[in-house]
Amino acid sequence: MSDFLSQARALLGDTHVLTSDLAGYATDWRGKFTGVPLAVCRPADTQQVAALVTLCAAHSVCIVPQGGNTSMCGGATPDSSGQQIILSLSRLNRVRDISPLNNTMTVEAGCVLQTLQELAAQHERLFPLSLGAEGSCQIGGNIATNAGGVQVLRFGNTRDLVLGLEVVLPDGQVLNLLKALRKDNTGYDLKHLFIGSEGTLGVITAAVLKLFPAPRSRAVAFAAFQTPQQALELLGLMRGAMGDRFTAFELMSNASVAMVQRYFPASPALFAMPYPWHVLMQASDGGEQSALDNAFQAALETALEHGVIDDVLIATSEAQAKELWMVRENISEAQQLDGANIKHDIAVPVSSVPAFIEEVLPLLHAAYAGVRPVVYGHLGDGNLHFNVSSPAGMSTPHWQAETDRVNVIVLDVVARMQGSFSAEHGLGQLKNHEMAMYKTPLEIDVMRRVKNALDPKLLMNPGKLLPN
Ligand SMILES: Cc1cc2nc3c(=O)[nH]c(=O)nc-3n(C[C@H](O)[C@H](O)[C@H](O)COP(=O)(O)OP(=O)(O)OC[C@H]3O[C@@H](n4cnc5c(N)ncnc54)[C@H](O)[C@@H]3O)c2cc1C
Repeated sequence: MSDFLSQARALLGDTHVLTSDLAGYATDWRGKFTGVPLAVCRPADTQQVAALVTLCAAHSVCIVPQGGNTSMCGGATPDSSGQQIILSLSRLNRVRDISPLNNTMTVEAGCVLQTLQELAAQHERLFPLSLGAEGSCQIGGNIATNAGGVQVLRFGNTRDLVLGLEVVLPDGQVLNLLKALRKDNTGYDLKHLFIGSEGTLGVITAAVLKLFPAPRSRAVAFAAFQTPQQALELLGLMRGAMGDRFTAFELMSNASVAMVQRYFPASPALFAMPYPWHVLMQASDGGEQSALDNAFQAALETALEHGVIDDVLIATSEAQAKELWMVRENISEAQQLDGANIKHDIAVPVSSVPAFIEEVLPLLHAAYAGVRPVVYGHLGDGNLHFNVSSPAGMSTPHWQAETDRVNVIVLDVVARMQGSFSAEHGLGQLKNHEMAMYKTPLEIDVMRRVKNALDPKLLMNPGKLLPN
């Protein structure tokens, strides 16, 4: 391996092949997985990525691509063998082109998502991908995980926002698919193979992204309910009234909101009395603020009159809108601070969400007295973060030992409702084994054939996504 390391140093420079102080790279965001990398390699551009990957192929060194390292499933964390390198994309952070007329930007994989949102705004455009980790996750990681977030309802997943890709294949060749085309029916659309492939098929080095006109006004409200069924009815009502202007609809159980208020005491006060369920919703468009406000308020008044919502708080300023959003955005961190929880990131058809919640909650309470489910997520997409915190007083190791049993309780209902056991975060090394339980053998076989065709030496992010 010293031969490999000295050649890597010759390619990238001594300071960009790190072999000490690797803790920040070697442990995942949740602190659940810690690996032992052979080295962290930090190439500066696509050519250096290609040269490094070629070197890895020659020495049979496995590669774990890493972006912002915000994976919820240990996707960017190496194993403990000391034989895998982390290939950090952080230095590939250039914007190659931005074209307001074309509504596209061509960016390198290591650009931080929030930087791209801000850049788009400077050009009076919107890049709509938006998620809690946007200040540190990178667009390459977003593409590799097909990230979702809070505006999928209107703009789709990352897959829907990518027009072109540049990928370094596992043998070191650069596959240039960087076209800014809205239409191109010339054979298999290869970019889609790499979107959501979690670093198992190649290293994404650049992408052409879709932009949209920048919104000029937005309306935000927090509504309270007794049941998720009411929230579903509100979704139908608001979409009917607001059409494409309706951009986000986030469900939160009272436990989720209370957890944020406990760990983030500066969170805004909401309602005079507690309600079991809440929704944060948003509409935006390119027109006058007053026109949007009037339509939004009229729809919410109709919902109140018909008993669809029990109470509602409408933001009266942009500052208040931001405060309300912080309640939603801080749930992940609050739960992280609260301690052990078993995370699920499931999807069922939107109309089945209330039935799903009503079926699973009693099963969990029957299995574990005092269990604390923290349920929130993108109701508009049928995607819930159904995280289960330990019963009060139970130790972390004890609760973690229950993971498989809790998973079966939750995921068997998901499967029965024709849902997905991972709707946003991907599989990484946390959930790859669940594929064998919830995907058909033929689906897994076809995935393996794709993997073997592109990466016959199995060097790209081994132990992730596919079952071992
Ligand atoms: C507070 C918080 C909130 C979150 N909210 C959401 C949410 O709402 N929706 C959502 O979808 N996710 C969410 N996530 C999960 C996470 O942010 C996303 O999965 C994100 O897309 C990962 O980006 P990253 O740059 O951090 O990737 P990393 O964590 O570094 O890597 C993720 C995976 O992608 C691979 N990868 C990274 N870069 C590349 C590349 N250039 N080429 C090939 N493979 C690569 C890695 O090998 C790994 O398998 C959240 C995470 C946190 C911590």
